[in-house]
Amino acid sequence: MRKALILLGPPGAGKGTQGKMLESHYGYPSISTGDILRESVRKQTDLGRRAQALMEAGELVPDSLVDEIVKARLAEKDAQKGFILDGYPRTLGQAAFFEKLAASEGIHTVAVGVIVEDEELVARLSARWNCPGCGKIYNTGSNPSRQPGRCDDCGKSLIQRKDDRPEVIRERLDVYRRSTQPLIEFYRQRNHYRQVDGKGAADQVFGSIVSVVDGMTQ
Ligand code: AMP
Repeated sequence: MRKALILLGPPGAGKGTQGKMLESHYGYPSISTGDILRESVRKQTDLGRRAQALMEAGELVPDSLVDEIVKARLAEKDAQKGFILDGYPRTLGQAAFFEKLAASEGIHTVAVGVIVEDEELVARLSARWNCPGCGKIYNTGSNPSRQPGRCDDCGKSLIQRKDDRPEVIRERLDVYRRSTQPLIEFYRQRNHYRQVDGKGAADQVFGSIVSVVDGMTQ
């Protein structure tokens, strides 16, 4: 059966990093609505122009926009066996939309909550640097690049996201509590939810995710 692995969790919990690791492990694409939106902003497409101000303020973009992005992305060839969702769904409205889509396409959903306490999230997001070329994520404290400011893999200059500024980080955490945290209950009620501790090293968190996912889908 076609599988959806939803990574649920606050900003900075490591969903992007885990999504990439899980992509190599399962061979399913990791789909990040945040990455797709940032790319649209960079290219200044119609979608990007509509999303930019909201993203820079740490607010969510309207459900209808992201729902359509995901629907179109899931129609692509590489997502037919399964896929990983990083940063979607993020509201109950999106979860309901995805639930309908999953039912009509025979998709089996597992939602994994990656949980990290607020203090640690703020510290991680403030120290996060991203490669605009290959998308690799670094942390100046726990996972620095070998040469400061440069990507180990593709050599591009690393950049810091505009929404990783302290005042925006606080807003994003509030938005998470208000809009996204209720999804835990949504998936729990359907018995599709498992939780892992996101505090440790990336490899350790990855091991926990794989074990709960394999435990649920076998
Ligand atoms: P992320 O990279 O997942 O932290 O997303 C960055 C920003 O993109 C968010 O703060 C939102 O403004 C927007 N965004 C990404 N995914 C969604 C979504 N599923 N629903 C609404 N807005 C989103």
